[in-house]
Order: sequence, then structure tokens, then C-alpha cells
Amino acid sequence: PGQDTQIYGFCDAITSTLLVAKGKVAPLKTVSLPRLELCGALLLAKLVATIQRQLSLQACNIFLWSDSEIVLAWLEKPPCTWKTYVSNRTSQIREYVPSGTWRHVASGDNPADLGTRGCKPQDLAANSLWWHGPKWLSCHSDSWPNSKARSASPPERRKIEAYHALEDEPDYLDRFSSYSRAIRVTAYMFRFLDNVRNKSKGQPSLTLPHLTHSECQAAKKRIIDLSQKRYFPSEKDALRAKTAINKKSSLLVLNPFLDKDGLLRVNGRLAHSTLSYNERHPIIIPTKSRFCQLYLKFMHELLLHAETRLMLQMVRQEFFIPKLKPLIKKCIFQCKACTLYKQKTRTQIMAALPPERCTFTLPFSTTGVDFAGPFQIKASVLRSNTYFKGYVAVFVCFATKAVHLELCSDLTTEAFRAAFARF
Ligand SMILES: [Zn+2]
Repeated sequence: PGQDTQIYGFCDAITSTLLVAKGKVAPLKTVSLPRLELCGALLLAKLVATIQRQLSLQACNIFLWSDSEIVLAWLEKPPCTWKTYVSNRTSQIREYVPSGTWRHVASGDNPADLGTRGCKPQDLAANSLWWHGPKWLSCHSDSWPNSKARSASPPERRKIEAYHALEDEPDYLDRFSSYSRAIRVTAYMFRFLDNVRNKSKGQPSLTLPHLTHSECQAAKKRIIDLSQKRYFPSEKDALRAKTAINKKSSLLVLNPFLDKDGLLRVNGRLAHSTLSYNERHPIIIPTKSRFCQLYLKFMHELLLHAETRLMLQMVRQEFFIPKLKPLIKKCIFQCKACTLYKQKTRTQIMAALPPERCTFTLPFSTTGVDFAGPFQIKASVLRSNTYFKGYVAVFVCFATKAVHLELCSDLTTEAFRAAFARF
């Protein structure tokens, strides 16, 4: 053993070397052929490592051959690229022979192939391939055949799934939890901007303690404009440029137009009706917009937790929101007050009726009595007559539910006895 010693290893689904040969029978369990070839390579690597250790050949060059291009492709990439079975075995091979050079050998030149194909011992004794390896092995390593073409996409690749979420640009209204607050904050922002402009022009600034109606309306229009720009940018651009809207646009059937504030409105068939301008040409609100969500919640509370039809009626007086009904239903469903109010109260199972209530008898055979009132009673039809308090004694037949009413002047025993006598 010296510096010039080289170890040559050939492997197949079973293994052999000139120095030592080792074979293993494939397991009964169905294992794919490339996996068996890989097991062969692992067996070879183990064997080479043992020889290296036993003969103290740590510094020698190691050349290893396999006729499986898939196994060679597996060995070229890092073990983590492959599934667990292949990954474990390729990393073991790298541990056993870290300095080994893996090359490809044609099946015909592979001495290890003799063992796989089955060869009688007497034939093996005379076989030069088995004892001396392929003919080119005795030449210089530069002249050894080596095909660089590896299996381009070997099996058992570990699937790597990468997900990335694209976050939408946040809506301006996302930061507000209520419609009225959004309007107020926006209106104050515009007042601040106006005041800054006025100051630069030397004009007096607005310092009212509360917002005016026109300020709130301007803020509302600005917010609607932002929502429309977010969801219908191409439609707005097309209308501003006075060109046709994209034929795939969902707004095409509404024949929209831009009003003087630059808001998208429906151009329906009610142009000549006597309805208000907002009802004839409602402003289009995108269904998915945050404005829509906040506005419906605001309207629901403003209308004292109104139900679907009233909400529909009120919203349509100003806005056109596609698929409005399901949105309103969702809004009501999410309202905590409505959910609590609609809860059913508990009821008790009633006891069986007494026999008097469910037996055929003559009317008023069994009678119940109760008093109703007080009522305002007029003693006569004269104009100057005063009212006095009176009561009604109600006699109810148990069997037929027939009712007899008697007037009583007060709740005393005498008055009742008089009424009972009349009954
Ligand atoms: Zn509600």
C-alpha cells in the first residue's frame, strides 16, 4: 500500500471488486430498480470504507462505477433534494466514501453485472472481466469512458411547495370601524387642508367647533370616489377619456356615467321620472368595498335595526349596490342586538285541561268570572254629562267559551252580587 494505490469499485444491483466481492439478494418486498441500484452503491461504499480502514489506505484515490445513471444523478445533488429513502442512502454513501469519484460504466463493461446475470463458477474462473475489470481500466484514467449525460429528471425528488401571499394595498377605510367616524375624520382632514391653503393666501381660516353639512357631504363624496377608484379604475379612466368601457366590465349593463363630482352613477331608464336625482341616477358602490360594509351597518343602526326590505328601500334611494340583498342579510346576521332580540323565549308544556273544560254540557253549566277595566263610563248621552269609572264582569262558559258581559259600577261585593243576579 502506498500513494499510488487506487481502489476501483463497480456496482450493480449487486456488488463486486477485484479485491473483494460482495453480493446481497434483493428483498422480497417490491422495491424499484433504481432503489436496488442505490442499495448496491451503498453496499459498495461500505465495502470500500472497510477495505480502506483494514488496509490503512486513507490517502488513496477511489474510483467507483455504477451502470445506473439515476443513481449517479442522485449522488450528484445534495441528499436533501430527494425523498427520505434516497436521501438517507446517498448521505450514508457520502459519509463512507467522501473522497470517492463516481463514474458511469456501460452494462457490458461492468464486472458486477456478471453476478447479477448469473454466471457459473467455472465460467467465472476464466472470465477476465471478473478478475481484471474492463480492458480500459489498465490504461490511463484520462482514456476511461465516462458519459457525462445524467438522467435529467431522476425520480424520488422531494416536492417543495412554496406559497406566497400578495397583500392588497390597504383600503383607506380599513382603519375605521364606523361610517360616521370615517366621515368626520375625513371632513376634519379636508378642513385642515383648506385652512392651510387659506393661511398661505392670507384668508381667514374656518374654526367652527363642529362640522357643517356641506363638509360632511364633501368628505362622503371623496370616500365614495376612493372606493370606486379602487374597484372600477379602468371604467372611470375610460369614462373620463370619453372612450368605450371594456366589454367584460360588470358595469356595462348599467350604462354608467360620471357626474360633476366625478362619481360613477347609473344611467337607467328613469331619467324623465319625477323621482329625486339620486333615485334616478344612484351612485354605484362596489359590493366588496369597505364603504359598503360600513354604510350598511350605519343604516341598519340608524333605522333602529331595520329588517331587509326597509333597508333595501332606504339604501336604493341613494346608492346602487350590486347583490345588495345578500349583503343586507349578512349585515343583519352579524348584528349582535338583532341576534339577541330574535332569540325565542322559553315556553312550558301546559298541564291537561280540567274535565269541565273538555266535557260536552249545556252552555254556562260551569262558568268562570273575571273583571276587566276600569273604563270611562258616561251616565247618559247628554252633552254636559260627566264620566265616572266602571268595570266589566266577564262570565265565561267553560265548555263553549261563550262570554257574557255585565257592567259594574265599582269593585265592591254588592256591585258583584247585583251583576251576578243580572247574569
Ligand atoms: Zn340589528
